[in-house]
Amino acid sequence: MKEIKVFKTQDPKEKPQEKDLAFGNVFTDHMFVMDYSVEKGWHDGRIIPYGPIEFEPSTMVFHYGQAIFEGMKAYKNKEGNAVIFRPYDGFLRLNRSAERLCIPTIDPDFACAALKKLIDLERDWIPKSKGTALYIRPFIISTDNFIGVRPSNTYKFFIILSPVGAYYTEGFKPVKIYVTDKYVRAVRGGTGAAKTPGNYAASLYAAKMAQDKGYTQVLWLDGCEHRYVEEVGTMNIFFKIDGRLITPTLDTGSILPGITRDSVIKMAKNLGYEVEERLISIDEVFKAHDDGKLEEVFGTGTAAVISPVGILAWKDREILVNDGKMGKTSKELYENITGIQYGIIDDCFGWIEEV
Ligand SMILES: *Cc1c(COP(=O)(O)O)cnc(C)c1O
Repeated sequence: MKEIKVFKTQDPKEKPQEKDLAFGNVFTDHMFVMDYSVEKGWHDGRIIPYGPIEFEPSTMVFHYGQAIFEGMKAYKNKEGNAVIFRPYDGFLRLNRSAERLCIPTIDPDFACAALKKLIDLERDWIPKSKGTALYIRPFIISTDNFIGVRPSNTYKFFIILSPVGAYYTEGFKPVKIYVTDKYVRAVRGGTGAAKTPGNYAASLYAAKMAQDKGYTQVLWLDGCEHRYVEEVGTMNIFFKIDGRLITPTLDTGSILPGITRDSVIKMAKNLGYEVEERLISIDEVFKAHDDGKLEEVFGTGTAAVISPVGILAWKDREILVNDGKMGKTSKELYENITGIQYGIIDDCFGWIEEV
């Protein structure tokens, strides 16, 4: 294993109060950085003080967006130990995104070791109260000073950390979702399955329109027929219809393969639910509602784990799901997955990596 040098800050920051934590606006004292060149491959992995970095204005990532990222979380479990949820799977997904964006892949074992070393150094930054966590943001950017269009020859890989507050401060507030049949997020053959900034840049306009109409997030339909459900802003989506859980298939290649989605599928099956991964049209969802069979709708993602959907608006219709409350199954899945994350429930799936 390559060595990771550590350069400690001389000037540690004051840590925020746990009750003041929000999402993504506070960063810890250190970050991990590693460089790539064609001659040396990935090299010079190091932990340095968190702070500004300098780039020339011609740096490729600013122009053509050749970049990828990940999102994971570290927790303090009930014994007070630092644990990370499925980091290896996150780095494997980073590599799949890398391939799609012509970015050189990383060694997932080395990345896990680097992450553990960084978390070990920053363990006092992991908040303790229920629902809080240390959010982990690994990312890779292209760094050639060149404004022609081609893959870059040099890259930088970073991991930065941000303590985040409980997603549900006033209990579970089901979100209001607007189904757009005008804008699309991804198409077959596009970059929808890669965690790449461009997908988000392209999604902002529709999200803003939805917010102007009073909705929290957008539900995307497929890019060809505007008919099949894909996913929500930063989350995958599940429907409970007539006792069964249904989530859109990843086969289209236009949906981000969420690690929470995968955890929910495995947990639900373990709890005895039938889970179907298949195409599901928006008509089927509204018809299920009309037939009184749409029991629950929820989003899944690292930030909130499970996010119940209370309202779905599509064309000229708006439906209320489960009386706008969090459903029994959503709650059961939330309790079981967060239970593993906080070490309250036995990790029978091998999802937890201790630091
Ligand atoms: C990251 C992400 C998700 C959720 O993935 P998790 O691994 O569960 O956090 C879903 N959709 C999009 C577009 C994403 O970027």
